[in-house]
Amino acid sequence: LGKAFSFMVRNRIPGGKMTAAQFLAELDIADELGNGTIRITTRQSIQLHGVVKDNLWGVIHRINEIDLSTQSACGDVTRNVCCCPAPLHQDSLRTELQKLTDEIAEFVRPKTGAYHEIWIKDPDTGEREQVAGQPAVSEFEPLYGEAYMPRKFKIGLGMCHDNCIDVYAHDLGLLAVTEGDTILGFNVLVGGSMGTTPSKKNCFPAIGKRMAFVTREELFPLITAVMLVQRDFGDRSDRSQARMKYLIHNWGLPKFKAKVEEYLTQAESICSVAEGTVRRPLLDPHPAEVTTHQDHLGWHEQGDGKWFLGLPIENGRVKDDGSLQLKAALRKLLPEHVPTVRLTLHQNILLCDVEASRRADIEKILSDHGVVTVEQISTLRRHAFACPALPTCGLAVTESERVMPLVISDLEVLLDELGLADEPFSLHMTGCPNGCARPYNCDIGLVGKSIDGKSGEGKYTVFIGGNLIGTRMNAVYKDLVLRSDIPATLRPLLICFKENRQAGETLGDFFHRWGMDSLKELDGTAEV
Ligand code: SF4
Repeated sequence: LGKAFSFMVRNRIPGGKMTAAQFLAELDIADELGNGTIRITTRQSIQLHGVVKDNLWGVIHRINEIDLSTQSACGDVTRNVCCCPAPLHQDSLRTELQKLTDEIAEFVRPKTGAYHEIWIKDPDTGEREQVAGQPAVSEFEPLYGEAYMPRKFKIGLGMCHDNCIDVYAHDLGLLAVTEGDTILGFNVLVGGSMGTTPSKKNCFPAIGKRMAFVTREELFPLITAVMLVQRDFGDRSDRSQARMKYLIHNWGLPKFKAKVEEYLTQAESICSVAEGTVRRPLLDPHPAEVTTHQDHLGWHEQGDGKWFLGLPIENGRVKDDGSLQLKAALRKLLPEHVPTVRLTLHQNILLCDVEASRRADIEKILSDHGVVTVEQISTLRRHAFACPALPTCGLAVTESERVMPLVISDLEVLLDELGLADEPFSLHMTGCPNGCARPYNCDIGLVGKSIDGKSGEGKYTVFIGGNLIGTRMNAVYKDLVLRSDIPATLRPLLICFKENRQAGETLGDFFHRWGMDSLKELDGTAEV
């Protein structure tokens, strides 16, 4: 017997924007050809797990038939482009950014026809079938050339007052600088990336560096120039060194910026704009900075007479499991009560464009199916998420998604006991150092390191000192902590925080101020 290969299939959904019909179709595909669940990812996308090899073509083909695609969702290209998904129309900022996200996503999509040759063409007839939304293809690849990127490349568009996209965690973060409703331009952040290989000393996670400010007119040539520099100078000999952060680290930001400026003429030509459209030298970043974080959970008036409900989805997994009948609830809600959905980078779902008259029905359907809303979960659970890890991720070292609910339950008891249950802080867990759940810039990160030989339980590296708004890296507090020992490990730190915090100080800010050496001295000595 041959091996039964099983695949993960990831969609490309710019800004996480979908119709109810598309979401339902994804549920159907998962039921018929996957493992019966779908997973909302940390980049506003959907992953289908457990797709066996014989079903792979059918799954990808069907995704294209519903006017979505898997092109550029994986591989050494620009991945799903992210932006704030909230349909808030009180001002035009989000609408403008969402429109721009669609334009950028199309701009960076590979233009050659290889994807369509493989996944759209009928394998029996050889004919290229017409499917909805099928984009134009070309044999000329202006951005990627013949070799594509050295490694994956991620772009996100964020806002200072709502950093729900974690703008510093992308290879290229574009932070909107605004004045009232008007977007003046973007602060350009380069070299964010959470992946690392701990066994290699020259590998590290990083948040983006503030490189420049560009106006809306300068944006596309700037994106192009940054991508071309990484394409041409990123390390192609060692995959562990291929992300753009290493190029910036090795060159230093001034040299990288100068090279981007050098490439602007070529970039302007690719973008079909006049030479000199982008000012040289590039302007320094505007002082505007990220100040707050929003997760868009709960009911919100959209500003156009309709409402959206941000629904927490534990670790992004949409499934029916015992008393939790989430898939069944969504099948009842979509599209009759909810015409569109959007996906967040916290793996949650926004049920959008809801008439006010439907709100009570929606709440009843959710309640009847055991689906909890944000009011029914703890502050900790609200701000926590985990990557899939075992059993579906081939790179996983430990459990993550499947044990995170247990870790949270244990920590909820501890936080209640210490009177810290209402404290908002981020807790992210991964099953290996690759960092898919962004564990390196949150308040507390748990990164799977190994499996305990005796108990079979996972051991995790505990990182502390980042923040909810994602603007600071955390650092290793303790290594190889058994999953069941995580609460006891954090206990002295939480007590110290409670006793010594300054007014309004967040957990990560306190850890950062108190200092790692002082915090490590607390280990095992603190008492309630
Ligand atoms: Fe990503 Fe590692 Fe988690 Fe797999 S186990 S999803 S590679 S962080």
